[in-house]
Amino acid sequence: MSSSSHSVLLKTGVQMPLLGFGTYKLVSPEDVSRAVDAALLAGYRAFDSAAVYLNEAELGRALKQLLPKHGLTREDVFITSKLGPKDQGERAMEGALHSLSDLDMGYIDLYLIHWPGTQDLEITDPRNSGNRAESWAALEKLHAQGKLKAIGVSNYTPAHMRELIQSCKIPPALLQVEFHPKFCQTELRKVCEEYGVCFQAYSSLGKGDLVTDPVVLEVAKNCERTPAQVLLRWAVQQGVPVLPKSSNPDRIKDNARLFDFTLSDTDMDRLSALDCGHKFCRDASQVV
Ligand code: NAP
Repeated sequence: MSSSSHSVLLKTGVQMPLLGFGTYKLVSPEDVSRAVDAALLAGYRAFDSAAVYLNEAELGRALKQLLPKHGLTREDVFITSKLGPKDQGERAMEGALHSLSDLDMGYIDLYLIHWPGTQDLEITDPRNSGNRAESWAALEKLHAQGKLKAIGVSNYTPAHMRELIQSCKIPPALLQVEFHPKFCQTELRKVCEEYGVCFQAYSSLGKGDLVTDPVVLEVAKNCERTPAQVLLRWAVQQGVPVLPKSSNPDRIKDNARLFDFTLSDTDMDRLSALDCGHKFCRDASQVV
């Protein structure tokens, strides 16, 4: 994987924008359409969905309707979606085809296994591991058919990553996990670097909670930027792609202004020093 200032090249040869738009909790056609319209206007060219967000069909419809308005085509945007935990294992092929059908697209740019576990299995159930392998094999088949341009995983721990890399035919192009100054994921980033897997951040704003952190506020004041821009810049300045979500057009625009300023080494270090293992999202570390 190599990176330029605004995009990363995944090792499957696919170019992915460093800035993507998160869509979790945007569900109704009106909310999705309004947010996608604002995001396209603000310059977002990547959109992150998932089967469990229940918005793949709404996202597909909104893009079909709005791309021409912005002078864009399907090829100008990068769409990510994810296989839900209920489809992990023998239902994986069906689940991925369902995503393609709901999005109503001939291909998905990046498709991820959303979670290392399987719905309705205990986290200690050894079948979780076999189901992950079966899901991956299905994704490899669809990748070979050109329906999934790149394939990867989400919420995997270093152990899940090593297990996958040792057994797969096609290695994962990307790992999407929680990443922000309070949860820096040092070991996982090293594993990704070692195997050339792109490391992508979600919940960069700590689901909104980190924008009021005193250190973030102070850095933002110093560089005359918003706290959200500081949090997102901290990641992209390290080459880590981000996926901020907002339903507010002003914030959507504001969150996209990341490439016209730089954080000083001192500010980067002050933010990284907040690392305390604090997670805002579910923890997958106990899934076997
Ligand atoms: P996030 O982007 O860290 O934060 C979103 C929250 O911050 C929303 O409540 C939003 O409220 C608020 N916000 C946005 N911009 C703001 C600003 N400029 N100032 C103040 N508050 C602001 O959280 P996230 O939705 O958890 O993560 C982002 C995306 O990553 C998701 O949408 C999803 O696509 C992906 N994700 C993936 C996984 C996974 O398991 N793979 C897990 C979590 C997230 P408003 O909408 O009111 O602006």
